[in-house]
Amino acid sequence: MKVLIVFTHPSKNSFNHALLENIISGLKQAGHEIRIKDLYKENFNPILTGDDLTMLHTNNIPEKIDKEQQQLLWADSLIFIYPLWWFDRPAMLKGWFDVVLTNGLAFEYSSEGVKGLLKHKKALVIITAGGSKQYFIDNDALQLIHRPVTDGTLSFCGIKDVSHQIYYDISNLSDTERQDILNETKTAGLEF
Ligand code: FAD
Repeated sequence: MKVLIVFTHPSKNSFNHALLENIISGLKQAGHEIRIKDLYKENFNPILTGDDLTMLHTNNIPEKIDKEQQQLLWADSLIFIYPLWWFDRPAMLKGWFDVVLTNGLAFEYSSEGVKGLLKHKKALVIITAGGSKQYFIDNDALQLIHRPVTDGTLSFCGIKDVSHQIYYDISNLSDTERQDILNETKTAGLEF
């Protein structure tokens, strides 16, 4: 399996980074081919500019977009790892989607409506949240956590096989509970 991991967290000492390391280690042990996009580390520019749009409208793909799209097309499977920020993905990751998932590559409009073009890929979305699960239940917000990415983005582009794993209340867990999560993620990438 060719796996592209898109990692979005600014800190190397974060829990998210520990999740990343465990996922990589599990996938490597299983012999998968992996590429890692660490958006902050590579100082990814998440802004889709007016010039980019003008070029895209005339079917010219700007070089920076083409580079990202080649990596996306290379992968059979995508893994996204990020903290929940304002009930959604961090803006950096949102920008990556803005830049990469362009009309004509990821989806197209036809007389039958929108058609997703990335049908043969699958995805795993791993999210950490500061809030407790009970908080999200009480505020009728459980689906808000993953739907913008699973439905509003990936499924729209034809990726219907999307699993998601959400780890709540991350700062209030015990060290043992956090270690259990890290152990679990070592195999998460192999099972989806
Ligand atoms: P960290 O802060 O790095 O770590 C969390 C805990 O794990 C700490 O106790 C740390 O000591 C420990 N830890 C770190 N590394 C390890 C390791 N290797 N092994 C074991 N333990 C470790 N939350 C919501 O629920 N909803 C929101 O809408 C929301 N919006 C936010 C918006 C912003 C801008 C920000 C900054 C935060 C927001 N949060 C929100 C909280 C955010 O989701 C959590 O802070 C984040 O998920 C925690 O992940 P982290 O990797 O940053 O954890």
